[in-house]
Amino acid sequence: MTNLLEVQGASKRFGSFTALDNVSIAVPKGSIFGLLGPNGAGKTTLIRIINQITLPDEGKVFLDNEPLKKEHIQDIGYLPEERGLYKSMKVGEQALYLAQLKGLSKKEAKDRLKYWFDKFEISHWWDKKIQELSKGMAQKVQFIVTVLHRPKLLIFDEPFSGFDPINANVIKDEILQLREEGATVIFSTHRMESVEELCDHIALINKSKKILEGEVSDIKRKYKSNTFEVGLLAESENGLYDELKEKFQVVPADFKTIEEQLKLKITLDQSTSSNDLLGYLSTKAQILRFNEVIPSVNEIFIKTISENE
Ligand code: ADP
Ligand code: MG
Repeated sequence: MTNLLEVQGASKRFGSFTALDNVSIAVPKGSIFGLLGPNGAGKTTLIRIINQITLPDEGKVFLDNEPLKKEHIQDIGYLPEERGLYKSMKVGEQALYLAQLKGLSKKEAKDRLKYWFDKFEISHWWDKKIQELSKGMAQKVQFIVTVLHRPKLLIFDEPFSGFDPINANVIKDEILQLREEGATVIFSTHRMESVEELCDHIALINKSKKILEGEVSDIKRKYKSNTFEVGLLAESENGLYDELKEKFQVVPADFKTIEEQLKLKITLDQSTSSNDLLGYLSTKAQILRFNEVIPSVNEIFIKTISENE
């Protein structure tokens, strides 16, 4: 897979403080790349370097294999963390103005804005002033303006902050749709809720350093431990628990159920397969639940950060 964007060894210091320390990322074409990390990790600093707002002290950035240059600004749609629209300008007027700055003709800009305003059901906002909109409403307008000129790379810095869950979902669906249409997307977040469904790739940044990067499925495979969550119905639960403990590594599990059952987490060694376990359990009990425990991105995030403290 070719990379649309590569950052190689980027560092940034503010005085004696290091905000970004030798960070490299590779963003595959057509992917949704999540830049994850707690507040203050350095995500926005990295994003500002990619957008040529901040110059790195060290490191290089390549877009489509070319060293980053001024002209690339047109290839990138950027939604900054600090959203800024002119408060006293009217929504439509401002959207048209910003769209033309991105190189669209007035006619093109109008057509595309109409499409997006209809899609978001906000056409009646056209003649309102920005200051009449709520934060979330203004953010929707800014999202539209960011994607309107269909740049090949979209960068959203904390796109979900300021949105209620319903509107956050609207934005999430739009991001997925933009990828369908061929865009490459980088977004940053310090909250993990939307990450699972959205990202193919993630990089985890903590205290200015990258501590994990890769394809989400590969990372999950690496962090899973051949553990299965099982719910069993048996005549003697205690007897079965003791018996299982002799054969496997077993701890109680705490998933929710509506009826009584023996709830366990069973970790298998490499020589035992899930089928071996299933076969064994089926001779001992009625199996109500059997699924592999796959760590969530949130669990991996917390685990990796605590290992790096
Ligand atoms: P994140 O986006 O991950 O929350 P930032 O990249 O905004 O983190 O910030 C990383 C660190 O760098 C923070 O400690 C922040 O205070 C510091 N920082 C960012 N920009 C500046 C600046 N212009 N001057 C001084 N310190 C800065
Ligand atoms: Mg930030």
